[in-house]
Amino acid sequence: MFERFTEKARRAVFFARYEASQYGSPEIDSEHLLLGLIREHKALYRWLPRTDFQTIRQRVDEHLPKHPSIPTTVDLPLSDGAKRVLKYAADEAEQLEHRHIGTEHLFLGLIDEEDCFAAQLLREGGADPTSIRSQLADSSEKQSMPGIYESIRTRRFGSISRGAIEIHGVRRSAERVRDAVQRCHMYSWHWDKRAWTNVDIVVARKTGKVSFDLRLAEDSENFELVKGGWKKDHCLICRWELFESQNDADHGTGYTNGHDWMCAECYAKFWEHPDFFSSSYSDIT
Ligand SMILES: [Zn+2]
Repeated sequence: MFERFTEKARRAVFFARYEASQYGSPEIDSEHLLLGLIREHKALYRWLPRTDFQTIRQRVDEHLPKHPSIPTTVDLPLSDGAKRVLKYAADEAEQLEHRHIGTEHLFLGLIDEEDCFAAQLLREGGADPTSIRSQLADSSEKQSMPGIYESIRTRRFGSISRGAIEIHGVRRSAERVRDAVQRCHMYSWHWDKRAWTNVDIVVARKTGKVSFDLRLAEDSENFELVKGGWKKDHCLICRWELFESQNDADHGTGYTNGHDWMCAECYAKFWEHPDFFSSSYSDIT
């Protein structure tokens, strides 16, 4: 379960276990995860402008019943809520295309578990998940870049080491956007303008895992066809959400090669102007 966790994220869970034992809790809950997280990674306070460790500790103290502490040698399980937090953290990492799950993703995972007390404390503390996600998208870990990209990059895209491009009003790292654009240009896809509509999927009955290969549904004992089960996609370049919507053209319409999607803004900016990064179109700031 913790293979993809960074060292810091593992330590945060370790501290959460310690906190749970101090409160005499039979399981590790989301409030313990919160305490473990901010104990391990103080820099997370930059996302909590309206609170501090003492306040959070005090609020948790008031909220949680206190039982005699449990020896730390006793192995405590994660509560269902805490398991969901870890799952949401993994989802957040995936959305950002990060290989590793770090304390930042755990932080977002806690906010995503909306009904828990920890999420309430984070909201009270001023946490803004949308802004956090866009900060994380900008400072993303570099993806390893095979040599072929490198040569295309310098021939066609010039070299950029800093700067930002605004897409949908969000500033994104110019280098990261350029990398995504050049990956698109490596293939001669035809992009067609389409309204995004929900997509049929097949779900494996045993594991709940999803496939777009509808032929699997013929094996109805093991697979279930879910009409319109896929509810959104993300722009290949800027991760803008595309979903079915009659009255929101920005989200409801994009360009597709039948497999991937690009938002209209990225299409107009980068696809219609392939020399964006080395020309006067460039509005990198
Ligand atoms: Zn886009």
